[in-house]
Amino acid sequence: MSQKVTYPHMGTLNIVLNSVLHELGLEVIEPPPTSKRTLALGAANSPEFACLPFKITLGNFLEALELGAETIIMAGGCGPCRFGYYAQVQREILTDLGCNFQMLVLEAPQNGWLQFLHRIRELLGSFPVRRFRRGWLLGLAKAKAIDLVEMEMEKTRPIANPTIVDQIYQAFLTQLAAIDLLAEVETLASEYSRHLRELRQGRRSPLRIGVVGEIYTVLEPSANLDLLKKLGNLGVEVIRDLRLSHWIAEHLTLNAKKKAALRSELERWAKPYLQYFVGGHGLESVAHALRYCQSGLVSGVIQIAPLTCMPEIVAHSVLPNVSRDFGKPILTIYVDEQTAEAGLQTRLEAFVDLLPPVDISLAGS
Ligand code: SF4
Repeated sequence: MSQKVTYPHMGTLNIVLNSVLHELGLEVIEPPPTSKRTLALGAANSPEFACLPFKITLGNFLEALELGAETIIMAGGCGPCRFGYYAQVQREILTDLGCNFQMLVLEAPQNGWLQFLHRIRELLGSFPVRRFRRGWLLGLAKAKAIDLVEMEMEKTRPIANPTIVDQIYQAFLTQLAAIDLLAEVETLASEYSRHLRELRQGRRSPLRIGVVGEIYTVLEPSANLDLLKKLGNLGVEVIRDLRLSHWIAEHLTLNAKKKAALRSELERWAKPYLQYFVGGHGLESVAHALRYCQSGLVSGVIQIAPLTCMPEIVAHSVLPNVSRDFGKPILTIYVDEQTAEAGLQTRLEAFVDLLPPVDISLAGS
């Protein structure tokens, strides 16, 4: 039974997964940070029209297998978009390339935790449930801590020294990764949130942009070419609902009832423009963009998605109506392996230059 496990990168998901896997006593072979080589490897071995997350995660797997990984953990799913096929197609490609591995595809535990655990044990071997529970709770707490500190960072970056903000964030991530006790996670997050709040001394930027789109592209800096950071460096505060704990809740923890309630809430928001679940985060893109524009809290909205992403193409087709009805500019950016950083920077600068400031008294501190 192989114990050398790996997984794809998605922002800071590695910190969360490492907590769970280490608690189970597994040897983790983390893929090297996503680089140009990762993307080149993934793109060279993927179907041309596969979406960018497919190519990058395939590159992560190839690099981790080079380092000796034997078991790949990948999320599964179902619905109208291609994500549900990722694991199967990637397994076929890696097998055709002669790679020797096994793959564990994790689906949300809709039929109860016991079945979920049984599936994990089949491939990873036996482990006490209490250790899984401990690692899981620690991982979830870390995801929430990351969300909290990133929210503070996104408020602080536009009005403080970005280098200092980066240093604080990196120090937080390093310490968080090393924490082994649940009780210490919240304390660390509060401490770093306070550092960031102190840096901005109650000030907020009057330029605020709501970011919506496909979740991998929003969370993974190598896929969005550091879009969130670039906006912050341009003096823009980013407002977003798509965060790491959102993805974990959606893919790995929510039960069917909670999922249905969440979806009907999104459908209620998006209803005047989109009446159906279209897969991925297309419904969220419309619902969130609408909510941000209606609240008056943002100067504009940016939608970011991989080229050929079907759910986001549907959302893109109705977002101009939202923009027109609420008088807020909405910019859509598609990314793929050809996207150049300088071109993205120019588009962001041009968009930000045209934005009117918002009433900062609405936002609190
Ligand atoms: S949501 Fe878009 S990018 Fe993600 S798998 Fe589906 S089609 Fe691809």
